[in-house]
Amino acid sequence: MAYHLASRGTNQSTLVDAGRARFGDGAFTLIAGPCAIESAMQIEQTARFVAENGTPLLRGGAYKPRTSPYDFQGLGDEGVRMIGDAARRAGVGAVVEVLSSEQLPLLCEQVSMLQIGARNMQNFELLRAAARTRMPILLKRAASATLDELLYAAEYVLAEGNPHVVLCERGVRGFDRHTRNLLDLAGAVRLKELTHLPVIADPSHGTGRASLIEPMVLAAAAAGLDGAIVEIHPDPSVAKCDAEQALDFPGYTRLVEHLAMLREVQPSKVRLSACR
Ligand code: PEP
Ligand code: MN
Repeated sequence: MAYHLASRGTNQSTLVDAGRARFGDGAFTLIAGPCAIESAMQIEQTARFVAENGTPLLRGGAYKPRTSPYDFQGLGDEGVRMIGDAARRAGVGAVVEVLSSEQLPLLCEQVSMLQIGARNMQNFELLRAAARTRMPILLKRAASATLDELLYAAEYVLAEGNPHVVLCERGVRGFDRHTRNLLDLAGAVRLKELTHLPVIADPSHGTGRASLIEPMVLAAAAAGLDGAIVEIHPDPSVAKCDAEQALDFPGYTRLVEHLAMLREVQPSKVRLSACR
């Protein structure tokens, strides 16, 4: 059987509300924050900055799925509490990746959206357990997953009775060392043809380079995607994780300004979504 719950069919686009953010209403919704929560000060500072820019959702990893076990693994439960506090104080929502179902109760208390990362896209038990919390889920495409496989993964969540799924294109494994992954924007637009679920892009993991984030976000907006998730850091040079693919604060402010300019030439497609 095909992914019948996820397929577009005659369905209108699905609206997904996550804290103060909404995906799928035609606006372009931004999520921004560090790859990893590193300290209370770092996440507080970032939460305030994100709120000042009108960005409705703060990201930050607490349980980090690192390729090497010797790299920084995240602050764990303590990090979840830090981002929860920081987001509440700043008046934004928070999205944090979940790696195992034991982490769900604390996450549900502290954040407004759960991320299932590329490495767990086909962890079907985790998909089911996360779905049962009824929390909105940001589901990232695995580095070598086809679009059909991503949609079947989404179907696991929908079949559990949770319709709040946002899909994220974060780059597939390529062959050229100049970009970390190949950001498949055409695939993301194709996904919008195949499904009624909102689709966003992650140009940080999709390219691995800070300099490529803004052009790829503008391209995603012009192509009619529902938003983007961007890694930012108060000082990317000292970031403990994914330092090369984080914008600094002035770079992110420029990106938001340029998105607003794009909206002037393409008003129907590029309406920036601010805090609700
Ligand atoms: C992340 O968002 O920090 C992350 C680990 O992403 P991905 O699962 O896409 O690699
Ligand atoms: Mn990262």
